[in-house]
Amino acid sequence: MVSPADVSVTDLAASDAPTAEKVTATLDVLRRVFGYDSFRGFQREVIDHVVAGGDALVLMPTGGGKSLCYQIPALVRDGVAVVISPLIALMQDQVDALTAVGVRAGFLNSTLDPDTRRLVEAEFVAGEIDLLYLAPEALASRGTLNLLDRGRISLFAIDEAHCVSQWGHDFRPDYLNLSMLHERWPGVPRIALTATATSATRAEIATRLSLTDARHFVASFDRPNIQYRIVPKREPRKQLLALLRDEHPGDAGIVYCLSRASVEKTADFLVANGIDALPYHAGLDAATRAANQQRFLRADGVVMVATIAFGMGIDKPDVRFVAHLDLPKSVEGYYQETGRAGRDGLPSTAWLAYGLQDVVQQRKMIDTSEGDLAHRRNLAAHLDAMLALCETVRCRRAQLLEYFGEPATGGCGNCDTCLEPPESWDGTVAAQKLLSTVFRLDRERNQRFGAGHCIDILLGRSTDKISQHRHDSLTVFGIGGELSEAEWRGVVRQLLAEGLLAVEGDYGTLTLTDASAEVLSRRRTVMLRREAARPAKAAKPRGAATVVAELPAEAAGTFERLRAWRAATAKEQGVPAYVIFHDATLRQIAADAPSSLAELSRISGVGENKLAKYGEQLLGVLADAT
Ligand code: ADP
Ligand code: ZN
Repeated sequence: MVSPADVSVTDLAASDAPTAEKVTATLDVLRRVFGYDSFRGFQREVIDHVVAGGDALVLMPTGGGKSLCYQIPALVRDGVAVVISPLIALMQDQVDALTAVGVRAGFLNSTLDPDTRRLVEAEFVAGEIDLLYLAPEALASRGTLNLLDRGRISLFAIDEAHCVSQWGHDFRPDYLNLSMLHERWPGVPRIALTATATSATRAEIATRLSLTDARHFVASFDRPNIQYRIVPKREPRKQLLALLRDEHPGDAGIVYCLSRASVEKTADFLVANGIDALPYHAGLDAATRAANQQRFLRADGVVMVATIAFGMGIDKPDVRFVAHLDLPKSVEGYYQETGRAGRDGLPSTAWLAYGLQDVVQQRKMIDTSEGDLAHRRNLAAHLDAMLALCETVRCRRAQLLEYFGEPATGGCGNCDTCLEPPESWDGTVAAQKLLSTVFRLDRERNQRFGAGHCIDILLGRSTDKISQHRHDSLTVFGIGGELSEAEWRGVVRQLLAEGLLAVEGDYGTLTLTDASAEVLSRRRTVMLRREAARPAKAAKPRGAATVVAELPAEAAGTFERLRAWRAATAKEQGVPAYVIFHDATLRQIAADAPSSLAELSRISGVGENKLAKYGEQLLGVLADAT
């Protein structure tokens, strides 16, 4: 039997070995320590480059496998790798995950008691660990710098490197200080990693971290296992509940809301409907936030309802869906948030409910935001790109990838517009009716109203407001009977999205734009997306339901037993379930039903340490199943 001591990776790390041997060593580490067969994407190229002492800037989508890009060099090169990570709350989990595969790692941050701190410091100086995690602010302290001088550093890994970008919403001033690593330790290779896709951010990272000679590794940002869907918002909470019940029963997921109040309400609503949901936003005290995050990471199938304050660095691999109940402010934000689904590569859903009110609200927020005109224009441009994604009749994925500068070919077959192509229709006449209603109210009567009232006029309704203002005498009164109210709301929303109509003021009143005139004078046709009569649905259940559904009945039962064993083991050890094994690994064990340790070791995700630790137990669970 293999004991954990046998897989100590230090014996693979002969630093004076020639490159060819190191290259074999990296594959050996991947197989023995992490239990994976082959490298993914350009992991191997990055690893070889860093092992050879080069600097690297790595851009890979979430779930692409960035961690191994520095963890394997950390094991192969001499000395201790120093990993800069912005999230002290997650360092313990990162270290636990490494410990579980038999890698010696530690962290230093403000949560440690003095004894543990001294112990970790001693381990670092003696080279008894291979990775040391630090928060960026630690490098501002003289004590930490002196400590680092006393040890031997194999490399610096700068995780979530986009935190250095002053324009991004994850900006951390302490990241700006990291360019000093290069000055103080010029011979130590640095690898910066991020999942942020834009080339502007990439250039900023390279400049601010003085990574001028670094080799850039840029992966495709496609996440083929994520199904993108954007649906018309009707009764958002009910729509969300239907999604969870029909497609993601028992699955872990994240629901993003714009405001703290809607986070609370949505979480309450889900709990009242039997969903294991928790709230997370900046208004909760730190202890509650930490406890909720912990539960989300550790327990199976928890739904986190959160503002965008939640999510960075969450490396839970089995988040099966990300739902947005409100419109994200930019495509960058949308991509980053949805990217938290399906790190493990299994099918996952990105679902967004979007409606007229979102456009009104976001435009209003931009109008009233602080900052100069340039800033507001920038916000508006970001919103426009997001709206274009929502209203497109093309493949969502193609549009997303093109936004990030990646040419896309054809439809993806795994987004709502590919699965149920929306019809478009010539909405020029409808647009003219709506715009002339706004025109008549505004220019003839000097009045402005919101979308609801304009639609009432078009539909010829006799409401109090209509009789009070005698709007039934307008020539446009009742000329819109060919469309339903929902369809009219779709028209308003799409005209707003295209800038053919604008909203103003606290009440979101409608007003014309310069471009409106082109439509009114028939110089411009307006093609609109037809509102689906009923919400689109995925063809089959996804997520954990799929994981089980695709297994033969017997294996599905085994999978559930393996999950129960994993839950108990994780609880006993106080680590997240995925630190023990990923769903994908349990699923393959259930499907293959290995009958010996040798067979078990061939399954992806079963490295030597986990085989030694859990092999017999797993075979026991399998034997009970037969
Ligand atoms: P990122 O940090 O880029 O979001 P991670 O490093 O967390 O991604 O990796 C995502 C998942 O893929 C992890 O669960 C990891 O164990 C797994 N993984 C990474 N590289 C490989 C590989 N070569 N083969 C199989 N699984 C891998
Ligand atoms: Zn598509």
